[in-house]
Amino acid sequence: MSFTPHNLKIDKLKNLYQHQQVAVSVLRADLVHPIISGNKWYKLNHYLKAAKNTGKRVLLTFGGAFSNHMIATAALAQQHNFISVGIIRGEKPAALSPTLQDAQVFGMHLFYVSREDYKSKIIPIEVRQYFDEKETLVINEGGYGEAGKWGAANLLDSVEGTAYTHIAVAVGTGTTLAGLVTASLPHQKVLGISSFKNNNALQPEINDLLPNRLQNQFTIFHQYHFGGYAKYTPELIQFMNRWYQLTGIPTDFVYTAKLFFGLNNLIEMNYFKKGSSILAVHSGGLQGNRSLKKGTLIFTGF
Ligand SMILES: *Cc1c(COP(=O)(O)O)cnc(C)c1O
Repeated sequence: MSFTPHNLKIDKLKNLYQHQQVAVSVLRADLVHPIISGNKWYKLNHYLKAAKNTGKRVLLTFGGAFSNHMIATAALAQQHNFISVGIIRGEKPAALSPTLQDAQVFGMHLFYVSREDYKSKIIPIEVRQYFDEKETLVINEGGYGEAGKWGAANLLDSVEGTAYTHIAVAVGTGTTLAGLVTASLPHQKVLGISSFKNNNALQPEINDLLPNRLQNQFTIFHQYHFGGYAKYTPELIQFMNRWYQLTGIPTDFVYTAKLFFGLNNLIEMNYFKKGSSILAVHSGGLQGNRSLKKGTLIFTGF
């Protein structure tokens, strides 16, 4: 499997931050695949390889009703002839979210567990009845783990990167950020914008994925969550539409809108020295915008 999809490209945002003398380029990983978008495609690659190499038949993972990771796992599993199983947090909703509907279309077997059981990450007994544990590769929620990190590091494989002083990315579990820290050059600073409110576990969890010399060699911003994970405000929606008008780049409200909002805010507050050159990684996730009311956004990007 190739790690550099042919449709990965970099958009240079010319003249946007002339006043601050900061250059921003966007690595459009949202374009790699319409469903398995962005960082999910990369993060799952090494899991898939591991599953093939160890003769597994089943990919099992965890997520919420709007999980980009879930849908990506389902789609990738179907593509590569694996059975996929999704353990979903919370009771089965009366109406399935578009994400879960799609996951089912990709053949994923969905099981719903209570929030308490979900936290413990115990695989329900009925799942064990159907799927032999020996044949199952269990992938953490969000693809968190070493394999996810190494996959995410491949995001920079095709990037001629020496000119960038900073690399910025949206953060959920921080696995993608850990991959970027791994693949970055010594003079580069890696910045993450967290989509969660007060996720204090993030820093140690990312450090767990990194060797000593790379631990804490990154900065996480916690003030751009807009109320928390998957929460948004009219201000964020307005920003998404304005950002699209300015740059032609669609964003998702869960992750990348918060990334670009935060980045834009930091630039306007002169966080970056003159002459800085930022590579912002667009990690995809646009399918998640389907949960917004029609007409909320002036673009679909999906
Ligand atoms: C899942 C996801 C993230 C978060 O990635 P982590 O590796 O968990 O930090 C960021 N952006 C998008 C679009 C995602 O779908």
